Parts: sequence; C-alpha cells; structure tokens
Amino acid sequence: MSSVFYRSPNHTYPRGARGEGVYLYDDQGKQYLDGSGGAAVTCLGHGHPDVIAAIKAQVEELAYAHTAFFTNEPQELLAARLAERFGEAGARVYFLSGGSEANETAIKLARQYWLARGKDSKHIVISREQSYHGNTLGALSLSGNPMRREIYAPCLHDWPRIAPCYAYRHQQDDETDDEYGQRAAQALEDAILEHGADNISAFIAETVVGATLGAVPPSGPYLKRIREICDRHDVLLILDEVMAGSGRSGTYFAFEQDEVVPDITTIAKGLGGGYQAIAATITREFVHDAIVERFNAFEHGHTYIGHATACAAGVAVLDVINRDDLLANVQHISDQLFGELKIAFGDHPNVGNIRGRGLFIGIELVEDRETKKPVDRAYSGRIKQAAMNTGLIIYPGGRTADGEQGAHILLAPPFIYDESHVDELVSKLQTVVKEVGLG
Ligand code: PLP
Repeated sequence: MSSVFYRSPNHTYPRGARGEGVYLYDDQGKQYLDGSGGAAVTCLGHGHPDVIAAIKAQVEELAYAHTAFFTNEPQELLAARLAERFGEAGARVYFLSGGSEANETAIKLARQYWLARGKDSKHIVISREQSYHGNTLGALSLSGNPMRREIYAPCLHDWPRIAPCYAYRHQQDDETDDEYGQRAAQALEDAILEHGADNISAFIAETVVGATLGAVPPSGPYLKRIREICDRHDVLLILDEVMAGSGRSGTYFAFEQDEVVPDITTIAKGLGGGYQAIAATITREFVHDAIVERFNAFEHGHTYIGHATACAAGVAVLDVINRDDLLANVQHISDQLFGELKIAFGDHPNVGNIRGRGLFIGIELVEDRETKKPVDRAYSGRIKQAAMNTGLIIYPGGRTADGEQGAHILLAPPFIYDESHVDELVSKLQTVVKEVGLG
C-alpha cells in the first residue's frame, strides 16, 4: 500500500520514470508523447540540458536565501527580463510558487492599491463563469468552475461573475465577431453598475480560457472594450496568463495580440517549464508606487517567494526560448497543427469546434454538429485514459458547454515540437477518438 494521498485514490497511476525531449517514459519503459505539457507546463519538453545545468549551478552557489533577508541574482535578472517583456521598465515582479498563489497575490495587490488611494470600499473582484484561477480559497472564489467550487461553496466569497466570451456557444448567428465581443464585454459594465463601482476593486479573466473551456480566445475587440470599461469605472484589470502566457499563445504574453495592457498579470506554468515550481505576479509601476508611498510595503509574503533556484530555472527557460527562437516555432507548429487537425477532424461528426492560439488548442466535442448538443461529460475521463493507453498525454476536460455537460480536449504541446511530432500527435488522437466510440 502506498502512503501517497493521490489525486484519485482509486486510480492506479503508472510511475513516471524519465523524460527526454517531447517524450515521457514510465518505469515499464512505455513511451508517451507529450501533447499537453501535462497541464500546459513543460514548454521546453523534458530533460533540457541547459535548464538542468542552470539549476545545478544555482544550487551549488546558493539554493535559497529567505527574501526577508536577501535578494538574489536570478530573482533580479528574471524580474528585469519580465518587466522588459511586459513593456514597462518600472513594472514590478513578485515571484511565487504556483498559479493560485500568483492570483491570490493579484487580488491582494488590487485591494491594497485601492486602500492606498483612499478608496476603502473597493474590495470585490468580478470574474467570469467557466473560468479557473486556482484552488486556494481566494482564487477558487474567483473561479466559475462549478465542479471545483461545489464542496467549498460555504467557504468562498460569492462575488459576481459575468458570462465568458465564448463565441462557439454564445455568439448569435447574425452577430459579427466585433458585435459579439462588444456585447460580451458590456456584461462587465452592467455588473459594475449593479454592484457599485465604489465596491469593485478589479476584474480578472484568463486571456485565453484554458482548462475549463478548452483554449477559448477572446472575440474581436472584447479585451479592448474591457480595458475601457475598467478605466472608466476605476477598476483594475487582472489578466490571468498562468496557462496562456509564457509564450504558449505565440507571443510571450497572450494579451500582446489583443493590444491591451493589464494593470496586473499572472504567469506560472511555462515560466519554469516544470523544472521548478515558479509563478509571477507582474504589476504596473503605479500600483506598486501607490502602495509603497502610502504603506511602505505590500502586506503579503510566503516562505518561497523569489526562490533563487526557481528563478534560475526561469531565467534559463527564457534564455532557451530566446536563443532558439521558440516563439517563431510555436507559430510555425501551431499553423501545422491547426491544419492537420482540420484535415483529421474538420468533418468529424462529433467535433463541433477547433479553436485556440499558438500551441494552446481546444477541440470541443458534440453529439450533433448542427444543434451543438454537448457530449456526455464522462467523455473527458474516457479520452484521457484511452490516450494514456495509446501512449499520448493530452488534457481533456468536462462540463465545457454550460458548466454541466459537454467535453473538450486541450492540446498544449512543448514549443520544441517538430513536424513529425505533429503527425504523431494527430494520428494518435484519431486512434483515441475512435477508441472511445466517437465518429
Ligand atoms: N490560473 C489558471 C488559468 C490555471 O490554468 C491554473 C491551473 O491550472 C491556475 C490559475 C492555478 O495554478 P496552480 O495549479 O499552479 O496553482
């Protein structure tokens, strides 16, 4: 009997033994093609020698020194790189260990900012249905994910949530992308007016919705309009790029493609590529400065913030992305993958929609393409198991259509894919879809 408290205690997990490039191997020697980076994490694949060397070198120099006593070189370097990438030299970066912590930090930053500005009643964060921002209670309060919330409902803030921007299900037939994007964004202004701008601290959204909806990007001018609404009502805009950021969408930040700049953004998974547990909350200078001027410090902190080894891994991952021009490869492989998926599944009777950005792609499954009737959500688990049997790691999800029914498959392969890996992924996916009885 194992002493591990497993995610699913009644499931028997293969034991992961080693990783090399885009493949994982279990202790029986079975090979798995990594088609989703686990949960959109392993952007450089497995066993990357440069990242491993950087981690080893850092551990030998200084593995960890508490940030109440010291700063450290990798933290300084990674913060400077991210601030530059964010496009504002004065932006500040707060390093954490995971996406939930990063979003908790974002909510607290927003709250303390408004206190610093003398707007004490601002405390509510508006979010969206069918979203996920983390499993800690604050982040879960923001998450419009009924399954993850249900048990903890009495422990959560019941803050307002607006409908997602989800064209496949919510755009009307006679509406253009532009019109739909405007209409979906208007829901935010309506919610702000209903609850009173004086009470609203921030709005948080995933730039591209990840695990809950399966890589749904915003429609047309949605985020630009959201930005305007936030500005008009003195509401901070937080974009959660824990999944969609760090290059996964083809630009380092996914929001670069929407021509907006959030006040706060969070990144995690691809920041350390799975080599270390690291996340970051990046804030614009005015938020930082207001807090420091009024309070001297941000009332927050964890033991592992600014962890030297984690930051060294983050620097190494960024170095490899830049040196090997991997964002260009993300775009190149994305075009090929979308193309092959359309050939393989474009006419499939159970594939309603293929969408996404960069190497962040969702395939929504339906019973009927005409009516868009969702499939049974149990397909999510069946597909995951069939994929594992076939030697493929993908990240399916259930309850896609409306928080109850439906299913999708999320693909988020490493940025180092070549064309042969795309062929292998699509061909294995066809086997999996057949095996679960679709088509
Ligand atoms: N935000 C988004 C968009 C996520 O996809 C996730 C995790 O999947 C989180 C936050 C929470 O991150 P973590 O699991 O690292 O706490």
